[in-house]
Amino acid sequence: MKLTILGKTYGVVYVRDQISIDSGMMGRSSLKDLEISIASHMPLNNMEETLLHEIIHQIADSCHIELSEQDVSTLSIGLYNCSVIHIDLPKLDSPIGEEPIK
Ligand SMILES: [Zn+2]
Repeated sequence: MKLTILGKTYGVVYVRDQISIDSGMMGRSSLKDLEISIASHMPLNNMEETLLHEIIHQIADSCHIELSEQDVSTLSIGLYNCSVIHIDLPKLDSPIGEEPIK
């Protein structure tokens, strides 16, 4: 899956467990690598909210806005729960580690 954020195209990958992202984390993103990783062991709504969380991180990084982890979490949970943003995750039945087919 590809996702464009502020003109930069990111690859979005699902990883099987959070350990391969970082201990205790459900997602990770990198402006340098243009990649977003989402742990795949969570319920769909958690995966969608995590993707939104990583998108907010990347917007902040791209715009040189300093947000704390708590700021990002508050924004992602708040936006996700008021349904302002609809995130259309690709089908999750594709093999983990490969780009899911939408
Ligand atoms: Zn975060």
